[in-house]
Amino acid sequence: MDTEVYEVAILGAGLAGLGMGMKLKMAGEESFVILEKEDRVGGTWRDNSYPGASCDVQSHLYWFSFDDQPDWSRVFALQPEIQANIERLVARRGLNHHIRLNAEVTEAVWLEDSGHWLITTLTGEQVRSRAFVAAWGQLNRPSFKGIEGREHFDGISWHSARWRHDVDLTGKRVASIGNGASAVQFIPEVAEVAGHLSVFQRTPNYCVPRLDRPYTEEERRMFLEDPAKLRESRDGFYWEHEGWIGAMKLEDNPVAQEFTRLAREHLESQVPDPELREKLWPKYPIGCKRLLIADTFYPALMRDNVDLVTERIDRIEAAGVRTADGRLHEMDVIIYATGFETLSFIGHVEIIGRSPRSWPPRRGEGVSLRDAWREAPEAYLGMTVSGFPNLFILYGPNTNLGHNSIIAMLECQFDYVLKAVQAAQQKGAALDLKPEVLEHYNAQLQDELRNSSFAGNCNSWYKTPDGRITNNWSGSVEDYRARTADLDLSDYELVPATA
Ligand code: NAP
Repeated sequence: MDTEVYEVAILGAGLAGLGMGMKLKMAGEESFVILEKEDRVGGTWRDNSYPGASCDVQSHLYWFSFDDQPDWSRVFALQPEIQANIERLVARRGLNHHIRLNAEVTEAVWLEDSGHWLITTLTGEQVRSRAFVAAWGQLNRPSFKGIEGREHFDGISWHSARWRHDVDLTGKRVASIGNGASAVQFIPEVAEVAGHLSVFQRTPNYCVPRLDRPYTEEERRMFLEDPAKLRESRDGFYWEHEGWIGAMKLEDNPVAQEFTRLAREHLESQVPDPELREKLWPKYPIGCKRLLIADTFYPALMRDNVDLVTERIDRIEAAGVRTADGRLHEMDVIIYATGFETLSFIGHVEIIGRSPRSWPPRRGEGVSLRDAWREAPEAYLGMTVSGFPNLFILYGPNTNLGHNSIIAMLECQFDYVLKAVQAAQQKGAALDLKPEVLEHYNAQLQDELRNSSFAGNCNSWYKTPDGRITNNWSGSVEDYRARTADLDLSDYELVPATA
């Protein structure tokens, strides 16, 4: 069977992959395919359907600026509304016929002779493409790291991103292991129905007010009828978030102080018990771990049927959770809100690039991307890697934020990738990043990151156990926009592509 040939193949039909598809269409490029491993689009918004799931960024800001805004029902939309709007977008923008569901990419190989990527799926289907865009996300492989004995539990358990909607929690003894951004959203919902809920906290987090509310009918009509008002609302949220950047800096500054004060006031106004307060108050600088934005988490902890367990978990046993003090916490259900495997980026996909130009390969250069990233994942502007021509990563290494919307970062990436794809087409060549560009970029980036709050004295999913920050960007979105505004072809070796 002949393999189908496209200009661009995109891995993943989450917001990154879909946004890239929209941008290609808007530029008149129809020769692209989006390969999605699941049977539905939506990425993280498909996966995270736990009760109370919603976006921590205001709806108006959590949508593409180049698309019509949906008629959002509230300031911070809940997951079902976001997922429905993503599915509507796919239909509205004619992306359906570009998407292949149940098409899990297992391998992508650079074909030196033709200058194409050959992409293979789990079912053995193959496509060839001039460019390969990996939009695989950072937060989709559930992690259970450090939890021993899960297999011995006699009750029912699941990860927060694989919610068991078929299990009725009414009256049950439930454990939530973890208290991160996912847990604080479902804890208030579970607490309403569970007989008892134990929240196992290893590290406390800073939490600031959310101030969510439904939009009034009048506001919704106004946003629908007056695009200027919508833009004003979106811009207002964007610049407010950009102003938070100080809270992502290690040195003491007024924004970090203001956020710390806000978090303390929030805690004091919602948690009257001084002993509990101190258990909930972090000992690391604000911004070091993901800031929580929640109004209902602390009140849920105040309920008679909820307790906070700060004793370290020793292991999971048949009857429940055994803590280091020897106590067995008997449970019917354990919910693992233990986050994601965020450091490898690559998941199970095997990506094979050019043969290394130097032997042994220099840092960041290798036959497989896994090999190139053996020390740590790194990519120029989070998007390109030496030795992998015309491979573009969306939401790649060092492009996560602690202070603003990832959609805004993605939009910078779409524009950069589009320019690169067009340049490759015009030149009849593939763009391979020069190793020295990556080396210089990374040295500077890691240097800047040393002054970020992510480098503070906390553990987080942003960094490796030895402290290298692999996931987060060092500055504001505006800094990233400036860095990605132009495609400088001199950063790249042009590899002839006969395709
Ligand atoms: P997470 O932030 O990584 O939190 C995982 C939680 O599990 C932490 O409390 C962690 O404790 C705990 N944990 C992990 N392993 C443990 C162990 N062995 N023993 C005890 N506790 C353990 O994961 P998440 O809450 O799923 O959130 C991940 C990211 O997804 C967020 O940071 C955010 O970027 C995104 N997210 C966004 C939204 C939104 O916009 N609304 C909602 C949910 C998630 P430690 O803190 O001690 O590691």
